Amino acid sequence: MNDPFFTPYIRDVKDFPQPGILFKDMSPLLASAKARTKMLQELARPFEDKSIDVVVGIESRGFLFGMMLADQLNARFVMLRKPGKLPGETICEPYQLEYGMDSLEIIEDAIVSGDKVLIHDDVLATGGTAAAACRLVEKAGGEVLGLNFVLELDFLNGRKKLNAEHCHSVLHY
Ligand code: AMP
Repeated sequence: MNDPFFTPYIRDVKDFPQPGILFKDMSPLLASAKARTKMLQELARPFEDKSIDVVVGIESRGFLFGMMLADQLNARFVMLRKPGKLPGETICEPYQLEYGMDSLEIIEDAIVSGDKVLIHDDVLATGGTAAAACRLVEKAGGEVLGLNFVLELDFLNGRKKLNAEHCHSVLHY
């Protein structure tokens, strides 16, 4: 069950960015120092004893708590970005969208072989983005120890696409 503390901090926006989508807006959560601190604690707790080397944040809302999580877990922080945004040599992983394709990139040497990686994003929806992030981290030589999310849309079953040992979402809808 969701901690009722967080209820006022997640805003539902109907038909954004497209008709039929109920967008979960975490702007109120980001605006509150008290709520940010509590969310960070909830995100970090399951991974505190896991010796995480790298927290990987998915562009762009995955950068927000991702960076704070890296601080909290005393880990490096690495960005997964949309194509063409990262400088130098990169590794790319394409993935399927409802209509068409997209891809994620990582700087080639950002992950050292055998690094234990925690992948972070704001929302787990269909799981396509997170699954691509897992493949990319593995291509780069990392071991995906776990994934975590501020919130998960349970009815979309995104978790089924992920076979990481630890998958943790603070809030479920
Ligand atoms: P997916 O690949 O379907 O799991 O989508 C994940 C990405 O889409 C996340 O990075 C979210 O930022 C965004 N997203 C998908 N659905 C929603 C939603 N209902 N509310 C907010 N963000 C969403």
